[in-house]
Amino acid sequence: MSSADPIANLQTLIRCPSVTPAEGGALAALEAMLLPLGFKVERMVATEPGMPDIENLYARLGSDGPHLMFAGHTDVVPPGDETSWSRPPFAGEIVGNELFGRGAVDMKGGIACFVAAVARHIEQHGAPKGSISFLITGDEEGPAVNGTEKLLRWAAERGETWDACLVGEPTNPDVLGDMIKIGRRGSVSGKVTVFGVQGHAAYPHLADNPVRGLLPLASVLMDPPFDGGTPEFPASNLEVTSVDVGNPATNVIPAKASFAFNIRFNDTWTADTVKAEIVRRLDAAAAGSPLRPDREPARYEITWAERPSHVFLTRNNALIASLSGAVESVTGKLPKLSTTGGTSDARFIKDYCPVVEFGLVGQTMHMIDERVALADLETLTQIYGTFISRWFDNALLS
Ligand SMILES: [Zn+2]
Repeated sequence: MSSADPIANLQTLIRCPSVTPAEGGALAALEAMLLPLGFKVERMVATEPGMPDIENLYARLGSDGPHLMFAGHTDVVPPGDETSWSRPPFAGEIVGNELFGRGAVDMKGGIACFVAAVARHIEQHGAPKGSISFLITGDEEGPAVNGTEKLLRWAAERGETWDACLVGEPTNPDVLGDMIKIGRRGSVSGKVTVFGVQGHAAYPHLADNPVRGLLPLASVLMDPPFDGGTPEFPASNLEVTSVDVGNPATNVIPAKASFAFNIRFNDTWTADTVKAEIVRRLDAAAAGSPLRPDREPARYEITWAERPSHVFLTRNNALIASLSGAVESVTGKLPKLSTTGGTSDARFIKDYCPVVEFGLVGQTMHMIDERVALADLETLTQIYGTFISRWFDNALLS
């Protein structure tokens, strides 16, 4: 069965130029790999006014539980300046011990290896003792509005339920086996505008400079720390990402000034409680710092970015132990269980079943000359295969 070879699978997928929102033939190629393995494949198109339609794929092998889901995306970020690549980004060329191409590690490589692992599992053990499904979106690198979130809802409405999920994003910082992600921090962004009264810089008593109010409001969000971290998570951290006055004149006090911020928070907080804490700090700082000593407290307004990312932590020990044990038995390394990094589509999946993430080494993701070691593709396929066997054995015991 040709789909048992992760290298050939990955070359096929890389040769489909599926830069978000284009399907690029990638889901069709994946469907062609899954059908001969016995999967029932469905292609779901998600739509949203004002946004391009996005193709997604859901495939299931088996009809009984336990049910293991593999999730990921076939869309890729743009290649950038193609002439800067040492090999064309959509050719899937092998040079030495490496396979070059956009999506090699993020994350067509993970999909190629999981397909190969399932093909080998069927060759060696027959059909799985339950069900395996692929939940694959074409909208992860873009706005992610027509992607995993809608695909999950669509599948759930049709009666699909899952017992566990593995996301195949690149999770290893340096070497295959370094790191499994068992949770993710939440993320909230906002913008604070401070209002003053415009005037002549030489006649400040006639004006109110909003920059005087902005500085304490921004600094009270950066210090003191929101928390000291937890056993599973680093300390929550807020960064001021922009300060904007937009005033080109040196002799004018501006009418308003604003700053933007983003906070990555741990499970000490929810999106709502961290927002409330930010407002509490701003109110206290505004009351304590009039724009000028004898004036009113600083007047400010806060606007929040839409759709915050919610924090989550997976505590399903059977799932984590199956994956961690598979990594250790194949690589000899005990992977670190981590919650670091940005958000991922696991933040949507966690509402349906316990979810963990493990994939390739992320060093070249989104870069010119994205590439993967051929040996890593074989090793990851073996890890995924061992994980599949162990997870079903554990799930059937419990
Ligand atoms: Zn990715």
